[in-house]
This record gives sequence, C-alpha cells and structure tokens, in this order.
Amino acid sequence: ALAAADVALESSVQDFISKPRNMLIGGQWVAAESGETFEVYNPSTDEVIAHVQSAGKADVDKAVKAARKAFEDGPWGKMAPAERQRIVWKIGDLIMEHQEELAQLESLDNGKPITIARAADVPLSAEMFQYMAGWATKLNGETISPTIPYAPGAEWHSYLKREPIGVCGQIIPWNFPLLMAAWKLAPALATGNTIVMKLAEETPLSVLKLAELMQEAGVPDGAVNILTGFGETAGAPLAAHPDVDKIAFTGSTEVGRLIVEAATNDLKKVSLELGGKSPNIILNDADIDKAIEGAAHAIFFNHGQCCAAGSRLFVQEGIYDQVVEGISNIARNIKLGPGMSTETQMGPLVSRTQLERVTGFLDSGKTQGATAAAGGSRGEGAGYFVEPTVLTDVKDDMKVYQEEIFGPVVTATPFKEADDDLIRRANDTVYGLASGVWTQDISKAHKMASRLRAGTVWVNCYNVFDAALPFGGYKQSGWGREMGAQVLNNYLETKTVTVGL
Ligand code: NAD
Repeated sequence: ALAAADVALESSVQDFISKPRNMLIGGQWVAAESGETFEVYNPSTDEVIAHVQSAGKADVDKAVKAARKAFEDGPWGKMAPAERQRIVWKIGDLIMEHQEELAQLESLDNGKPITIARAADVPLSAEMFQYMAGWATKLNGETISPTIPYAPGAEWHSYLKREPIGVCGQIIPWNFPLLMAAWKLAPALATGNTIVMKLAEETPLSVLKLAELMQEAGVPDGAVNILTGFGETAGAPLAAHPDVDKIAFTGSTEVGRLIVEAATNDLKKVSLELGGKSPNIILNDADIDKAIEGAAHAIFFNHGQCCAAGSRLFVQEGIYDQVVEGISNIARNIKLGPGMSTETQMGPLVSRTQLERVTGFLDSGKTQGATAAAGGSRGEGAGYFVEPTVLTDVKDDMKVYQEEIFGPVVTATPFKEADDDLIRRANDTVYGLASGVWTQDISKAHKMASRLRAGTVWVNCYNVFDAALPFGGYKQSGWGREMGAQVLNNYLETKTVTVGL
C-alpha cells in the first residue's frame, strides 16, 4: 500500500489554498475580467485543492499595459543597479524565510516528494535570484576605437551600452513550477525588464505565493505581473501581444512552434527551452555501481518529468545485462507515494492527462515488442502514479525510443564499440538538450563530449544544474540559453554609441 501523507500542513498553507487566489496585475491582486476560475488538483489524490483565476485576453492586455507603464515610467527600469540588486537578492532571502510553506505548496500541487521540494526546488530557486542579483551591477559595455576607412585622420570614440529589452512575456511549465519561474524572473529583473508571466494551469500555487514575496521584497507595482490560466486562452494572447517586446517559453516543442508563429507578426525576440530525448551512454570501463545509480537518477528524478531526462540509455555489450539488472532493481525498490509523505521517493505524475499520455507510451511499447524489465504499468491508488519502468528489446523505430515520454520510462539498448556508429545513434534525434557519458577514460570522455550534439554533456554525473551553468538546447530543443552569464543576452539589447571627436 502507498504511504500515507505524514506532513502537517502549515496553517499559512491551509489558509492560502482555502480561498480562490487572485492574479497580480499592476501591484493589485485581482480576479479575471470574465469572472471565471478553475480548479487545481492534488495529483497524489485526484482531489481539488484550490481555485485560481482563468485569465483571458482582457487580463493579458491589462497586465501588459501595467508592465509597459512600469517600464516607461519607472521606477524599475530607471532604478540604480545596486538598488535592483538588493531587491532581487531580497527575493532569495524571503524564499528561504518561507521555505517550508513554499515546499508544501509545491509538493501538494505538483506531486513531487516534499523532501525533494525542500532540498532542491526551494533552495535552488532562492539561489537563482541571488546569483542573478549580482549581475545587476555588472552589466557593463565595452569601449571601441574604430578606424573608419573612408574618413582618414578622423577620430572616433565608440562605446556599447547594455539595455533591457522592455516588456517580457514569460510562459512556464509544471515540472518545476517555482524553479522555472526563478530561472526566468531572476535574469529578467536583474537586467531591468518588466514582466508578464503566465503560470502552468496544472501548478499555479507556489508562484502566486512567490509573487507576494516579490512585493514584500520591494519589486514595484507592474514590474512583475503574474497570470494564471490556460495555454490557448492566456498563453497565446500573451505570445501574440503587439506590445510585448520579448517572449520566453519553456515547455513542449509543439507549443514552442506555436509561440514562434505568434511572435512573428511583431518579430518579437524569442527564447525557447523545449523537449529532449537525451542519450546517456555507459562504457565498459565505467565505475559500474556509480553508473547504475546515476543512470537511474537520470531518468527517475522528478518522475522523469525533466526536459533533460536521460531517457535513451546506451550500454556497452559486456556490461549490458548487469546494468539493466541494476537499474531495474533500483526501479523496483523506489517507494511510490503521495508528495506529502516523507517516505515517498517518487510521487505521481502531474495530471490525469500526463498519466494517460505516459501509460499510452507503455502500451505502445508493449504492442511494438519492447519488454518491461521493471515496471510497465500504472501504479496503485487514485493518484496519477506510474511505475518506474525499464524497457529492453527496444528497436530504433519504436515510439518509446523516438518520442519524448516525459515520465519515469527509460529505454536500454546495447552497443558494441564506442565508435562513430554509437555517436550517430546518440545524435539521431530531433532534440539536443542534454547527454551523459560514463567512463573512466578521460580521453574518451572528452572526445565524446565534443561530438555529442547537445547543450549539456554530463560526464560521470547527471542532472547537475547550477545558476552559473548555461542550459539550453541544440536543434529542436530550443533557442538561447538560460542561467549563467549567457542568459543575460536573452534579456538585453546592445546599443552602439559612436561619437565623432
Ligand atoms: P505545454 O508545452 O503544452 O505547456 C507549457 C506551457 O505552455 C503551459 O504554461 C501552457 O499553458 C502553455 N501553452 C500551451 N499552449 C499554448 C499556446 N498555444 N500558446 C501559449 N502558451 C501555451 O506542455 P504540456 O501540455 O503541459 O506537456 C506536454 C508535453 O510537453 C510533456 O509531455 C513534455 O513532453 C513536454 N514538456 C516539456 C517541458 C520542458 O521543461 N521542456 C515541460 C513541460 C512539458
């Protein structure tokens, strides 16, 4: 039987979910113009836990207007960088002051184990604001002394200024609700932009709480506006809005394409962080115990609901059986349960839709001839549980091998040699987000790292993320990079000023 929830809800959390939550527009907490709300589910129990506003075009218009006003009239865009730095840093402090409340909201709403929300989602979100806060005071340009061929003898002085792009639309997914908000809000704020963010309809709660903390930290009215609502009714009008200067999106490649189409009219700037089908490669000479543990973590962390999940495992022939058995063993022993149980190691998927999608992939794998060495079915209980699954006898043309499943399902395939053919197979996907290599031969490791067509290569590790490390995709996994210094380019224009002396 599944473990019972054993975490007592903080009274502030109880209070937070007990009344319909409004949206933050222009510094005011408001209902949708239409008066419509929608239900938020607990994926561990399939029960309604809260109600939020359903934003439509009128609300998007209002929020964009507020963000434009805050950008043009200030104080945000005109604030001294050091002041902006202090406010963005303070958001991180307030996140940590409210860490238990945020972790509980995240676990309730998304289904992830409370222990993970406490240890990872919340502190990483705080860290992101504090890392990006530091950049606010370091957005320096360069000076250049050009030689202009058609004006011999003349003297010039040129310099570059980095300026915020303006009003940024940001649309985020449900797999790491608080952290995905932090990845986008922190750099946009540090660079002096104003923001309209639309949360994922599955998981609006933690970021509505964060929005309160941002107000408390001193983010001025209109600088950050937070909308709850659905993709077609709230996300699409934001992506198409003529007064939005830039749109940042994380989610499926399919919706990424719609975002690009919506943005073409006004040619607004676009950055995208999309799907993946990342190869994870274990060579004969790897530290096998570490590789087994690492490969299991690569796919089962966050129930496989990670864009970077190591979902295509390649294992060298000599150790294939041992590795498959090792990962299957780990899979069989993972404790499924509600997010709010401290014993839970893996919670439910986020929604009924995802449950149906992922179990659909399991059925298709069976029909096409794959074998489940572990798992392979829906888990017990009313929640959206899926067993951690290891698939073998997988052929390159199967759906489970080709498409992003976004659940706790890995395909394991053997290979003979770490040669060109292996690299070709690893790169044979429309995606290019992440990859993993397990070997003790450093020369092989670096050679493979340079040939894998992916934005991230993890060697003898997986899922290592840090605010300082850029993350993003080659090919259809996205445009641009988040985090590190590189994300600043997503939110800054460069102005060249040339003075004739
Ligand atoms: P999605 O791409 O539909 O949703 C992500 C966000 O986009 C949500 O906020 C959603 O409301 C919004 N959105 C949806 N349609 C939109 C539109 N037409 N215009 C503007 N915004 C829109 O993802 P999903 O349906 O929740 O999940 C489906 C699949 O997407 C998953 O199974 C997974 O493969 C992938 N996914 C990837 C990530 C990632 O981090 N890369 C995250 C979530 C989902």
